[in-house]
Amino acid sequence: MTESMENQQILLAARPNGMPTEETFEFREVPIADPKAGEVLVRTLYLSVDPYMRGRMSDAKSYVEPFQVNEVIPGGIVGEVVQSESDHLKVGDKVIGMLGWQKYNTVEATTVRQVDETIAPLSAYLSVLGMTGLTAYFGLLDIGQPKAGETVVVSGAAGAVGMVVGQIAKIKGARVVGIAGSEKKTTFLEQELGFDATINYKTTDNMEQALDEACPNGVDVYFDNVGGPISDAVMNRLNDFARIPVCGAISSYNKTDDDLGPRIQPKLIKSHAMIKGFVVQDYADRFKEGTQDLGKWLSEGRIKYEETIVEGFDNVPQAFLGLFKGENLGKQLVKVSEPSE
Ligand code: NAP
Repeated sequence: MTESMENQQILLAARPNGMPTEETFEFREVPIADPKAGEVLVRTLYLSVDPYMRGRMSDAKSYVEPFQVNEVIPGGIVGEVVQSESDHLKVGDKVIGMLGWQKYNTVEATTVRQVDETIAPLSAYLSVLGMTGLTAYFGLLDIGQPKAGETVVVSGAAGAVGMVVGQIAKIKGARVVGIAGSEKKTTFLEQELGFDATINYKTTDNMEQALDEACPNGVDVYFDNVGGPISDAVMNRLNDFARIPVCGAISSYNKTDDDLGPRIQPKLIKSHAMIKGFVVQDYADRFKEGTQDLGKWLSEGRIKYEETIVEGFDNVPQAFLGLFKGENLGKQLVKVSEPSE
């Protein structure tokens, strides 16, 4: 069935210095590899673009290996099995996995996991029920540990992780303050997701004052998605025994100079605060628990989610670059093809 069919791939063309550009990526056409015994051919339906991928484009030491130049970029993908040489999966099954940024992946069947589109739309497995939802769940509940009546501040609040953080904090009875970069986003957080207060960091000329107004009782939990000056300002308002899950620092990912800021140690001592970096994979053995709770809250209507879906494989680089310009509301995805009937 794959005879004469071409595959399209996206490779890392060069390691970016500062903000990546279209030149960071190279499109290539190759023949589709036929699956061998134990393998399946997966057609990409949805592809995830994520800020952490910027880190892997550099060759600096990190918690995961850097991407290799001239190789296909790996990422989260939901796809459909179109050819199977495995007893594990049949044609038509929908699967998720860390696959290559390409229209077709030929992989061992055991490297992908089947997903059930009767439980949730396929795209949700790359957003609220996927890596970003689990990041919010474990970072907030395990490290942040919000309690009823406390104030939880989340930066990057209208993104994939942030929107879930705020809603879980509401479920736990906290007062939730979201920081995001447009009025569309702050309106969405307050009107659609029930955040108690929001700050548009791009239009606020006095972040310290805006935080004082939004957090009259100080900050008990700060879920940090962005780092930089936004986080510097939140750190001045920590209550005693505050908890700070450090999830991301997107404001620094494309910096070419040192990311210098105020010293935070005295603030942590005075407030007895706990700050802890984490990666979602730290919780890999508890993903089932997280997915079950998120799925339950979703089905009960206690959590909503938003996705910004760009159409077409050609637009993958543009969708990725848009993350650093705040173009996405909720999870940024690319729809590459339609599922079969
Ligand atoms: P996202 O929030 O959906 O998308 C990125 C958002 O970051 C943009 O929409 C933009 O929103 C904001 N942003 C971009 N540049 C910024 C800047 N200079 N200052 C402040 N905000 C900026 O992405 P996500 O997938 O949910 O990830 C959020 C953060 O969590 C990222 O830092 C990511 O690396 C991290 N993360 C960590 C883990 C982990 O395991 N630790 C897992 C997933 C994600 P605005 O319009 O509001 O600026």
